[in-house]
Amino acid sequence: MKKLALHWKILLGMLLGVIVGILMSNFDGGKEIVQDWIKPFGAIFINSLKLIAIPLILAALIKGVSDLKDISKLSAMGGRTIGIYITTTIIAVSIGLLLVNIVNPGRSISEKTRMEMVENYSGNTAKYKEASELKKEQGPLQALVDLVPQNIFAAATSNRNMLQVIFFAVFFGVGLILIPEEKGKTVKDFFDGFNEVILKMVDLIMLAAPYGVFALLAALVAESPSLDLFKALGWYALTVVGGLMIMIVFYNVLVFVFTKKKPKFFMNGISPAQLLAFSTSSSAATLPVTMERVTEHLGVEEEVSSFVLPVGATINMDGTSLYQAVAAVFIAQAFGMDLTLGTQLGIIATATLASIGSAAVPGAGMVMLVGVLGYAGIPEAGLALIFAIDRPLDMCRTVVNVTGDAAVSMLVAKSVGKLGEPHIKNWDDNYEGK
Ligand code: ASP
Repeated sequence: MKKLALHWKILLGMLLGVIVGILMSNFDGGKEIVQDWIKPFGAIFINSLKLIAIPLILAALIKGVSDLKDISKLSAMGGRTIGIYITTTIIAVSIGLLLVNIVNPGRSISEKTRMEMVENYSGNTAKYKEASELKKEQGPLQALVDLVPQNIFAAATSNRNMLQVIFFAVFFGVGLILIPEEKGKTVKDFFDGFNEVILKMVDLIMLAAPYGVFALLAALVAESPSLDLFKALGWYALTVVGGLMIMIVFYNVLVFVFTKKKPKFFMNGISPAQLLAFSTSSSAATLPVTMERVTEHLGVEEEVSSFVLPVGATINMDGTSLYQAVAAVFIAQAFGMDLTLGTQLGIIATATLASIGSAAVPGAGMVMLVGVLGYAGIPEAGLALIFAIDRPLDMCRTVVNVTGDAAVSMLVAKSVGKLGEPHIKNWDDNYEGK
């Protein structure tokens, strides 16, 4: 295994996981064996990634912002980052809407299947509705209020508060720029070193990635519902996956046009993060690896990646927004509703906002989908239709979410003159470019 590139090792782990999952679900007690003896290793792997997400954001952002040495550079970069993020999200939703209107997947669901699914899964949808109801009760500026934590230590205790931690880190970094250099030197050196240590920890965790994804996928396959359900949802799933693939092509074109870096370079550099996004369904858990790949393998300087990527992991979810648009229209079609052009344009706005509000964790996109359905007057019971296949689609949309962040970080880096050559400094040195 030693000479194999990291992404091949991870792919092999995934493949073996699927095979073991299928084999084990075919005999009595096999599923329990997977749950008791394999699944925990997947959980350990994800936990270890999540464990370093908050310290990584703190260290990388404080270092990144203070390296800028100039507040105007920060605001230029911030403005550009948010602008490009919102633009790519709107493009993603539009692609989703276009596809779902062309393919019309909702029309192929029979009345009988629809009733069955609503009945089988309505229990699960209640949970999602509750979570989204809580969000609905809040005022329009609540998101802004939530950005500013009352207590940084409290904020840092939950991976769901990443935006608050980002706020603190940027604020701290700004403070660090503004004090005299000799006074801030110790603090800056501390965070530089801290950052190095965290990045080394990412390297170490990645050594376990092939085994981690093996365990994750074996458990997922062994626990998944029957294939029959998936068949009824085939066209819907194909529409989402088709849209997501278009997004991947779009990012490659974008990167090539703006930075002249070839798709092979971009995909080779980012692929381990993509595979991890697929296996964990969480942009937040993947963030440490995305940061490492983008900085060391795609040549984005740390000052840019440490700002653009954590922000992107929390607010830029192109895959999620595309999925939300397709799912909303699919459910409407399945219930025989015709959506007007106005409503569909409104879906662009709500899905964009809903994806920004989605947490970077498994299944978050579905919670926020409730808001999109509510806006368009589509029955929320329809969530039951897409429930069965949501996890595999979550895995795919998370890949797009992570790829989008990486692509935008290259664009922003290029625009501020911070896109250099890759400088690989980890154990996986020797595979790039082969
Ligand atoms: N799992 C996705 C992510 O972490 C969010 C979602 O669409 O559910 O990026």
